[in-house]
Amino acid sequence: MLYNSIPPPEFKIIEGKLNEFDIKLKERIIEAREQAKEDKQNGLREGLREDSEIFKITNEKTRYIFNLYYVEKKLPKKVFDWIIKEKLIDTLLLAKWKKKGYEQLCCVRCINRKEFLTGDKVCICRVSTNEQNKKNKKKKQVKEAENKDSVCTLCGCSGCTSKP
Ligand SMILES: [Zn+2]
Ligand SMILES: [Zn+2]
Repeated sequence: MLYNSIPPPEFKIIEGKLNEFDIKLKERIIEAREQAKEDKQNGLREGLREDSEIFKITNEKTRYIFNLYYVEKKLPKKVFDWIIKEKLIDTLLLAKWKKKGYEQLCCVRCINRKEFLTGDKVCICRVSTNEQNKKNKKKKQVKEAENKDSVCTLCGCSGCTSKP
């Protein structure tokens, strides 16, 4: 990996693990592209599988650092700060996880209003199943697609609300 600045020596301990995420991501993207034609024929949004892989691995990688630093407290602050500075993880997502109600957030796109495809105030994956059922009962005309399942069409997340 090439970095913009010299990493602290302690970064070596986790460098291999971070590289593994990157390698996995590259492989998944290739696989997703191979599936793209088939997906399109099946009516899936073009690029959804690829987006979904990017979201999943970025999320895992960010969670790994989040846990190491905030939960297990095993990561030196200078290494953490350097990782943030180099943007090796999703820094916006990590910042959101510290907020109440956002602890399990899948990706920042799903709380970015401009990108909502459903026209709702929140992305489908941000609505808990209970809330969805209540809402569906109230609303008589529920779009079929929404009814079928609650997988989000932005990143492929199947629900990321925090458990009560
Ligand atoms: Zn998402
Ligand atoms: Zn979503």
